[in-house]
Amino acid sequence: MTLFSELGLIEPLSRAVTAEGYTTPTPIQAQAIPPLLQGRDVLGIAQTGTGKTAAFALPILQKLATEKRRATPKGARALILTPTRELACQIADDFTVYGKHVGLRRAVIHGGVSQNPQVNTVRNGVDIMIATPGRLLDLIEQRHIDLSAVEVFVLDEADRMLDMGFIRDVRAIVARLPVARQTLMFSATMPEGVTSLVNTLLRNFVRIEITPQSTTVERIDQKVMFVTRDNKRRLLDHILQDGAVARVIVFSRTKHGANRIAEQLQKSGVRSEAIHGNKSQNARQKALDAFKAGNVRVLVATDIAARGIDVDGVTHVVNFDLPMEPESYVHRIGRTARASADGAAISFCDGEEISQLRAIEREIRRDVPVDADHPFHVEGLGAHGAGRGPGPKSHRGGRPQQNRGPGRGHKGKPRHQQRDGQRSERPWNNHAA
Ligand code: AMP
Repeated sequence: MTLFSELGLIEPLSRAVTAEGYTTPTPIQAQAIPPLLQGRDVLGIAQTGTGKTAAFALPILQKLATEKRRATPKGARALILTPTRELACQIADDFTVYGKHVGLRRAVIHGGVSQNPQVNTVRNGVDIMIATPGRLLDLIEQRHIDLSAVEVFVLDEADRMLDMGFIRDVRAIVARLPVARQTLMFSATMPEGVTSLVNTLLRNFVRIEITPQSTTVERIDQKVMFVTRDNKRRLLDHILQDGAVARVIVFSRTKHGANRIAEQLQKSGVRSEAIHGNKSQNARQKALDAFKAGNVRVLVATDIAARGIDVDGVTHVVNFDLPMEPESYVHRIGRTARASADGAAISFCDGEEISQLRAIEREIRRDVPVDADHPFHVEGLGAHGAGRGPGPKSHRGGRPQQNRGPGRGHKGKPRHQQRDGQRSERPWNNHAA
């Protein structure tokens, strides 16, 4: 196994990585960092959650810090193009963390906010620019940004760029880059549109493929607890009596439900916060920060609000309500067992949620073991999955028709259309859809 110390990173970078608690590089880091440090182009077929951000951020930081050069006015030495504002902010945060001892300037360029602060930040040039395509192109056209001196270009999530209709913008941006540059491209899947980009963008590149796919689920200790709707709250209290249930995300189907759960937990002395779409961005961020800092033990979230939550060290995910879409289950439980830690997912299932449970089991191709060892267990609730067996194949083909829950119809969709694109996955030895 490769160690970080063997990758040839300069001390200020290894120090930052160590401070983050990373001991071993993920496969994409081990494979990508050495050729990137040599200046090679790289194609990384890997999705979010593999550690790919550090895989490109560390060599870029190293290059910029060791080959000191002034950025040209309105320019950037490294450009990272990513499809969404959330990803841009996440990547920017990661650059800040990994680059805290090298002191480089960075700018984040995305739509949805005033352009003026962004224009001011780039006026004298920056070392690192992280951008979404639309706003970047806009600022280029207004002559606020000039990419002619970019040394390293990263195209992140190329398949999503394609899905979201950004490929023309991407091509227009690439046309403004100098031909002599180092290029990195990442994509979770390789549809045709992406393959053709590879050929125009990359030169003599190293191809790294991180086989992902559906094993996240395997590293997470999953259980289902059968309980009546009315007893779910008490069951949650019961579970929280265990101190090992230390950092928990509880999923609620509705915003109202999320508020109620959080309030009741607060009343019973459990520090908790709710995040959902009705809360302002500020309130959500505050709640999330408190959760990350360990000041809040339980974060109660709806599926939408939970997108983009990337918190290491979540010990448990509790599905207070089962999701209507089985893919959401995989995204939800992927919030635990991050960064190669183990994690646990507990799903509460009442009599009306059995079909959702079955749909989830079909999605993950295994049965979720029943935990009856709690005071609120309802005997016989899951019984009509008569074929419930221990093995992953036990229900394939054998599931009664009436059990077919919601969520059919997504099968056969390419994986890149199923993802929400957030950092919900941890596929280097486990991973979610
Ligand atoms: P990604 O979104 O693919 O860049 O990976 C994101 C998550 O993996 C972040 O939460 C990182 O903090 C974490 N991570 C990245 N590299 C490592 C590593 N070598 N060891 C442990 N965690 C890591």
